[in-house]
Amino acid sequence: MLPLEDGFSRRFHYLRLSVTDVCNFRCAYCLPDGYRPDGRKSFLSLDEIRRVVAGFAAMGTRKVRLTGGEPSLRRDLSAIIKAVANTPGIEKVAMTTNGYRLKEQAREWFDAGLTALNVSVDSLDPRQFHQITGENKLAEVMEGIEAALAAGFKSVKINAVLLKGLNDHQLDAFLVWIKHKPIELRFIELMQTGEMDSLFRDRHASGDFIKQQLLGNGWVQQLRGLDDGPAQVLMHPESQGRVGLIMPYSKDFCASCNRLRVSSVGKLHLCLFGDNGVDLREQLQADAQQVELQQQIQQALSTKVARHWLHEGNTGMTPHLASIGG
Ligand code: SAM
Ligand code: SF4
Repeated sequence: MLPLEDGFSRRFHYLRLSVTDVCNFRCAYCLPDGYRPDGRKSFLSLDEIRRVVAGFAAMGTRKVRLTGGEPSLRRDLSAIIKAVANTPGIEKVAMTTNGYRLKEQAREWFDAGLTALNVSVDSLDPRQFHQITGENKLAEVMEGIEAALAAGFKSVKINAVLLKGLNDHQLDAFLVWIKHKPIELRFIELMQTGEMDSLFRDRHASGDFIKQQLLGNGWVQQLRGLDDGPAQVLMHPESQGRVGLIMPYSKDFCASCNRLRVSSVGKLHLCLFGDNGVDLREQLQADAQQVELQQQIQQALSTKVARHWLHEGNTGMTPHLASIGG
């Protein structure tokens, strides 16, 4: 077995690294009551981040996504981006953000070595954006996206969580917005997590509904490469922007899994909906521990199971995605 391959021949060149659990938004599907501090937690330091990324890179990781919570709330974020980008073997450094600090920071992050950006925009209607995220900040986020394109990012991906009765009928408005922009709009099906009660029952909508509308209007689904992640991507000859669909409840979603996750406290999670995670932190205290770190990662990966159990209503130990880095 190759260093970052599991028992089902899936390869994991992609690491999602959470740098904080803290968030300043209150998205209805994630932290509806806002972030509640847990006094015992200390997030990975810059040195620990450097070491964990070096360990994964030595085993074949080529892409790292920084996420959270809200990664831009870390004061040392630019230093983190620089450290990850300068790790031998790492070719791509991406980040997922709510866009809150994008307008002021886009250029600094780009200059630090960030190569790709996902910004969450669940609605283009300011009032609905406020309703979903708890923050009246759509205008600032949209300015941030323009600032990112101006700063040098060749394209930006937009994450929109599909919510029945809220944004599931806004496809046309989104398509008009991306028509002349280098944007990939990604609709993500709402995923059930441990702390979610009635929201999933009331708001979950299948991405298939969007896919059928697109296919009926001249959009064409792109073939997926072996190493591509689980997104289904569609293009249209008259649109510069593309649309991606992430449908975790669709058949064979897990077969294309290509990512591992490390939480903000240094736990390796083999699946978003898995168990408590494998604690790597003891192995992140000195540069000399790289061999033990890599052995621990390899050992954990050999236990990765074939698929999640969401269909059976089993959401694993994840209370919400802010706790593990969605
Ligand atoms: N705070 C940043 C943001 O919102 O972009 C990064 C962290 S957030 C957990 C990462 C992504 O997960 C966001 O695009 C968010 O919309 C998505 N997300 C959070 N909870 C989700 C859920 N229950 N189902 C589907 N997507 C979810
Ligand atoms: Fe914060 Fe992102 Fe969760 Fe929204 S989805 S509450 S912005 S971590």
